[in-house]
Amino acid sequence: MPAKVDMDKIVSLCKRRGFIFPSSEIYGGLASCWDYGPMGVELKRNVKEAWWKSIVQERDDVVGLDTSIMMHPGVWAASGHIDNFTDPLVECKSCHLRWRADAIEGKKCPQCGGELTEPRMFNLMFKTFMGPVEEEASIVYLRPETAQGIFVNFENVVTTSRKKLPLGIAQIGKSFRNEITPGNFIFRTREFEHMELEYFVKPGTDEKWLDYWVKERFDWYVKLGIRKDNLRLRQHGKDELAHYARDCYDIDYLFPMGWSELEGIANRGDFDLTQHAKHSGKELSYYDAEAGEKYVPYVIEPSAGVDRSLLAFLVDAYDEEEIEGEKRTVLHLNPSLAPIKVAVLPLSRNEKLTPLAKEVYKQLCPNFVTDYDDSQSIGRRYRRQDEIGTPFCVTIDFESLEDKQVTIRERDSLAQIRVPIGELKKVIAAKLKGEAFDASSLWATRQK
Ligand SMILES: [Zn+2]
Repeated sequence: MPAKVDMDKIVSLCKRRGFIFPSSEIYGGLASCWDYGPMGVELKRNVKEAWWKSIVQERDDVVGLDTSIMMHPGVWAASGHIDNFTDPLVECKSCHLRWRADAIEGKKCPQCGGELTEPRMFNLMFKTFMGPVEEEASIVYLRPETAQGIFVNFENVVTTSRKKLPLGIAQIGKSFRNEITPGNFIFRTREFEHMELEYFVKPGTDEKWLDYWVKERFDWYVKLGIRKDNLRLRQHGKDELAHYARDCYDIDYLFPMGWSELEGIANRGDFDLTQHAKHSGKELSYYDAEAGEKYVPYVIEPSAGVDRSLLAFLVDAYDEEEIEGEKRTVLHLNPSLAPIKVAVLPLSRNEKLTPLAKEVYKQLCPNFVTDYDDSQSIGRRYRRQDEIGTPFCVTIDFESLEDKQVTIRERDSLAQIRVPIGELKKVIAAKLKGEAFDASSLWATRQK
């Protein structure tokens, strides 16, 4: 079943409504780099917040961490990234374009038909120099994953959090990979944001916990509105497992370009802690007081991309509908993800309506991300809010001046209810939490 929206429509909506812009656009852009605009930054914050809430806030067995992007180079030797984080690359001897060897059929350059070099391994880590001297000893890398910052802090966190295993450490932050073939909008970029959990468990319980986290993470996407039909689970074959993994599942999403990885959940065994113990000379084991034994924990790693998840939420929410002969584009985003929760729209820009509308806005904005819009016709303003996924619009009309009531319009059903201004905050909060939107009360109120 193909996805119903093509990527061009998503890219165009993102540009038009201020979700995502090409980076450095006035200079012609920079390949596969993107900037999040006013709507995009809210959506991105909400995706991260939803992850953090479910992984850290709502659990007593996971704590958070925020580690530096640049780390001691020894970390990457121990983790295997210096030796193994590579792609085979071939170069055209005529036009000098480089290609991933495994993405090329035949022995000719796809661009000009020229002869290709033998494949050589190309490391995907960004390299730079720390301090003023550009020499071998001052090389540092931009982290390609946030996970290693967690592993090297395992001892610190266990000691200071005073928690027992199983214990998770979660981190959200930027990662960098010098991908040879980035693309598909924000799906694969060289700079991106990771949401990673390292969940440390007793060896022997790892398979059980892998199953547990695969289900947890799958359900997270469904809970936030992604249709189950557009998700699938895929276990890695033995030949495609990363060098550190004992087992791995991908949660794939049906993106416009086809099924692609949304998140990986790997059983990393004791690879990382063992490697860091060996390379650093520090013992990284755990004393299990209940069992009376010491061991190197195994780790289960759900690793997701913020940008990639955001793209999946956008694609899944996108819809074009016809309402009373008029077309509308709408994002059926889960209210918790929607960039704007409520829009305050006076019926028109009228000097009598404005003071009351501003008063309503002031009442709502400390509690919800609120938009105020009094330009153009009310119909066009509704369309604009639909297109950015705003779940509720509050309209102030001339009747409001008399009865101190306003109309709330719901994005998906287009149903409307009329509520007293004093109750507005309470009603919006309840509706955002999922309370039913019962339009019959509108008429009940009006008949009074
Ligand atoms: Zn060529």
